[in-house]
Amino acid sequence: MENCLFCRIARGEIPSRKVYEDDRVIAFHDINPARPVHLLIIPKRHIVSLQTVSADDEPALGRLLAVAGRLAEENGSPDGFRVIINNGRIGGQEVPHLHAHVVGGPEPVGPMLERN
Ligand code: 5GP
Ligand code: ZN
Repeated sequence: MENCLFCRIARGEIPSRKVYEDDRVIAFHDINPARPVHLLIIPKRHIVSLQTVSADDEPALGRLLAVAGRLAEENGSPDGFRVIINNGRIGGQEVPHLHAHVVGGPEPVGPMLERN
């Protein structure tokens, strides 16, 4: 995906504060952190959201979740963290390349959602 923001970050064309990379995923600090620890883990292959995954995407999705705990621990959230994946319009997704937010820090992240 030529002009996808996160594909461009994955290719190194746009700088990021990278904390991890392997053959399937890359992780970097969110540019506008919502908590003291706020990482984004993305698949290197262009997947729009969980609305559009195929069986071919499963290894990348598995890896994405499998590295979250270690990255949280290594980056300042050793006592737990939250993973958030926003999907599509209803989910409030702004960047149309699937990404897991890993949020945490020394203090609890807070209530999951305000109840309507
Ligand atoms: P979404 O709302 O799509 O789930 O989250 C997109 C996230 O990407 C936001 O938290 C936003 O701060 C982050 N973001 C947007 N543009 C950039 C960027 O150029 N670099 C980094 N590191 N994060 C970005
Ligand atoms: Zn992309």
